[in-house]
Amino acid sequence: MLRMAIQAKGRLNEDTMGLLADAGIDVAPAKRKLVAKASGFPIEVLYLRDDDIPQAVHIGVADVGIVGLNEVAEREMKLHEVMRLGFGACRISLAIPKAETYSGLEWFKGKCVATSYPNILSKFFYEQGIDADIYEIAGSVEIAPAVGLADAIFDIVSSGGTLIQNGLKEVEQVFHSEAVLVATPGLSETKLKEVEKLKFRFSSIVNSRGYKYVLMNIPREALPEAVKLIPGMRSPTVLPLADEAWCSLHTVLAEDVLWEKVEQLKALGAEGILVLNLENMVI
Ligand code: ATP
Ligand code: MG
Repeated sequence: MLRMAIQAKGRLNEDTMGLLADAGIDVAPAKRKLVAKASGFPIEVLYLRDDDIPQAVHIGVADVGIVGLNEVAEREMKLHEVMRLGFGACRISLAIPKAETYSGLEWFKGKCVATSYPNILSKFFYEQGIDADIYEIAGSVEIAPAVGLADAIFDIVSSGGTLIQNGLKEVEQVFHSEAVLVATPGLSETKLKEVEKLKFRFSSIVNSRGYKYVLMNIPREALPEAVKLIPGMRSPTVLPLADEAWCSLHTVLAEDVLWEKVEQLKALGAEGILVLNLENMVI
């Protein structure tokens, strides 16, 4: 049986629990229990703070874990990255007071930068040949310049709203992160097989995100044009209707082109267009 470390509460918890549920893995949420058995897959879930997940997976307390790439990089743990999960996207950026003129990385020479990610930052500064002081703080990094603790910050940004609220501007995006499934290096053959099964389930969910299942009735004579518009996974499915002048066309469309394609299909005479959510896409 595999043991998986996930965030007990916080930004990754909800999406992680959602992914497990979609993958048919039923697990009790973190309350007072640190470990919970799951049903639907031979797995046990270990609820941890995200900071502790890379090490737990590294030493094998958990065989796999779901955590942000940022935490893995900061702890400098060599883990086996099984797959990216497509949620928890953010970046770690350098930000300076908005009134400052920024001419390039040289600005940071001799400055003091507050961060909760000292390892990622010192590696970056080293690679770029910048000699700056790094001041490590655990939280509320964004207020450091205003209270005189530092000249600049290196912190997680997603929308940028927090920076603006604190009179800061983002000047360098250094690290791009998202949630990943990681595994202990050198797992046994048996456990690796289980990890592959887990990856298979997760992949079908991650792949189906951003896609819709679309079906419609279309005049048979418009079919060649319609097929050109929607290639589908291999090619669209065409089913006969009782009325021989019509047929039913089924396909999978990416959400970003969905409405444009639907309008074009309507213009070709398509009727009764249904757009359905896709739960899994097993490629
Ligand atoms: P814990 O109590 O588990 O240590 P935390 O407070 O350190 O939690 P959260 O704020 O819950 O961490 O963020 C967890 C992860 O979510 C981050 O490490 C990062 O990978 C991801 N994330 C995505 N967007 C953001 C964001 N806007 N701010 C912070 N983290 C984000
Ligand atoms: Mg944390």
